[in-house]
Amino acid sequence: MTVRIVGSRRFRMRKLSVRDSALQGAGASVDVLISASAVSLITEDSLNAFSLGIETMGLLYGIPFLHEGRVVTKIETAVKLPTTATPNSVVVKREGEIPSGSSPREGSLVVGWYHSHTGAGNFMSSTDEATQGKWFSSPGSVSLVYDASHRTLCAYRLMEGDVAKASFHTYRD
Ligand SMILES: [Zn+2]
Repeated sequence: MTVRIVGSRRFRMRKLSVRDSALQGAGASVDVLISASAVSLITEDSLNAFSLGIETMGLLYGIPFLHEGRVVTKIETAVKLPTTATPNSVVVKREGEIPSGSSPREGSLVVGWYHSHTGAGNFMSSTDEATQGKWFSSPGSVSLVYDASHRTLCAYRLMEGDVAKASFHTYRD
């Protein structure tokens, strides 16, 4: 898959209160928390694109934080990007309006990206891995892949230079 992304940035970890309600329901070893509204936006966008036979992608906004010595990423919002897509590639348009309707909260950061697959399965291709390494190499940066043909959502992160599956928990927002 071909993916280009116009911008991202490195971020500093924050500590989040252990009383955070999203974390409380998640269990001790979760890597990623995802709001239910972000999951439904990604699902709808991916299935929409799938009905047109193409991929889609967007950015994930939220907060990475340290919890008991581990990095946990909280994804609050997903924002679809203007793209040019085919059945097996998606490229961000350099000049395009970011659609409104799901705007990130003030203070939240770009914590990763999502994109869909149209039938090849749920995995990170070598291009996906290169994209992750180039734009989202900060600890806690997340890649969400939605495989629209099997309706599966998976989270991936870079762990010591390699892409690994991350456990995630959905919370109500
Ligand atoms: Zn991919």
